[in-house]
Amino acid sequence: MRKIIKEENTLIEMKCDCCGRTMKIENGIVMEGVFSIDYPWGYFSTKDGEIDSLDLCEKCYDRIISENNISITRSDNTELL
Ligand SMILES: [Zn+2]
Repeated sequence: MRKIIKEENTLIEMKCDCCGRTMKIENGIVMEGVFSIDYPWGYFSTKDGEIDSLDLCEKCYDRIISENNISITRSDNTELL
């Protein structure tokens, strides 16, 4: 869950949607690993026109992937600054 000051488009708070822990933020930037997704459901889903948002801390992300034997595709990010 994200709280953003809309006038400034600045992130002021983010909590993990699994464990509820507040993540460290400095100057509107999350200072730790976070899995954030805003997924717009498509026409053939039962949620067409809706967007699901999810923020997970890295620890919860790793646990959910591991406990559920989810096969992920991980590749190198070649667009690092
Ligand atoms: Zn968490």
